[in-house]
Amino acid sequence: MISIASPLIGDEEKQAVLEVLDSGMLAQGPRVKAFEDAFAQMCGVQHAIATSSGTTALHVALLARGIGPGDEVITTPFTFIASANSILFTGAKPVFVDIDPVTFNLDPAQVADAITEKTKAIMPVHLFGLLCDMDALLDSAARHDLAMIEDACQAHGAEYQGQRAGAFGTGTFSLYPTKNITSAEGGMITTDDDAIAASCRVIRQHGMRRRYYHDELGFNFRMTDVHAAIGLAQLGKLERFNAARNANAAYFNAHLRGVTVPTVPEGYQHVFHQYTVRVPEGRRDALMAQLQEHGIGFGVYYPVPIHQQTYYVNELGYDQQLPEAERAAEEVLSLPIHPALTEADREKIVATINAFMEAV
Ligand SMILES: *Cc1c(COP(=O)(O)O)cnc(C)c1O
Repeated sequence: MISIASPLIGDEEKQAVLEVLDSGMLAQGPRVKAFEDAFAQMCGVQHAIATSSGTTALHVALLARGIGPGDEVITTPFTFIASANSILFTGAKPVFVDIDPVTFNLDPAQVADAITEKTKAIMPVHLFGLLCDMDALLDSAARHDLAMIEDACQAHGAEYQGQRAGAFGTGTFSLYPTKNITSAEGGMITTDDDAIAASCRVIRQHGMRRRYYHDELGFNFRMTDVHAAIGLAQLGKLERFNAARNANAAYFNAHLRGVTVPTVPEGYQHVFHQYTVRVPEGRRDALMAQLQEHGIGFGVYYPVPIHQQTYYVNELGYDQQLPEAERAAEEVLSLPIHPALTEADREKIVATINAFMEAV
């Protein structure tokens, strides 16, 4: 079986975890600090704040940017549910606009059109490891004095014009096992702003600036040193992992027939968290059955855009059409792209898909 995702855990990670267990310092401690410093450096920012997950990173980042009840945050419906749910957690309202059909990312023109007097932030999601059109989005944000909160949970090390994901505003990352690097569970917030960084640290830990004095509402969203030890070892391998993902993507782009392969616009460095193709209308189910039969893993990210999720429709009353997101949900198929793929795996994936697509 060729799996859709495969975390690569080596001796470095195992050794690092054993050292933490032997140290007697298990909760947030020196490894978390070291991981934060190295992560900030990887992104090219001043501060990184580790959290318990990507979802809690998003939640804290929104709160630290002052998002709350009555506010609107513009984001994409074509993403993992946590992007939008984190907005709901603050009491604010996710406002969904449609995507660009080529990149699957937020369409900046539609973002500009959706801005109202209630809009407080834009949350671009750098889906599948490709940055959004940040020039256009930053322009809208600057014009209306909006916070920029990047959901970079799939974009560790991705670049636009030489600048890394997480360096365009307040960045948020996930370290879940399927992501480009993992800490088992974990998240990271990135920022150049001293005050926002300080606020994130307070919200992460019970709203506490001074031990057992609580001036605001906070949470326990800390990362443990055990998880940070894994993450730090993984971070050292990120560039190699991303290069392997890019090499696999180049191979697929050169050899796959009959499906629409991803394109990387000029000026962007993709990190291929997912390698996502479009399958011509009506053929996706049959292709998935074929892959299944040949022991090839795959994923549909995502089968239901968030504005059509049951909770959003039934409980929150969302009722809108976003045709590109809806069409993407019908057509996308993600193939194994992770660094553990072998040459034989790649050949088998290509041969299986091409044989199916060419047999009409
Ligand atoms: C993974 C992911 C998240 C949530 O991260 P967790 O670590 O699973 O909480 C949020 N947004 C996107 C786009 C993701 O891919």
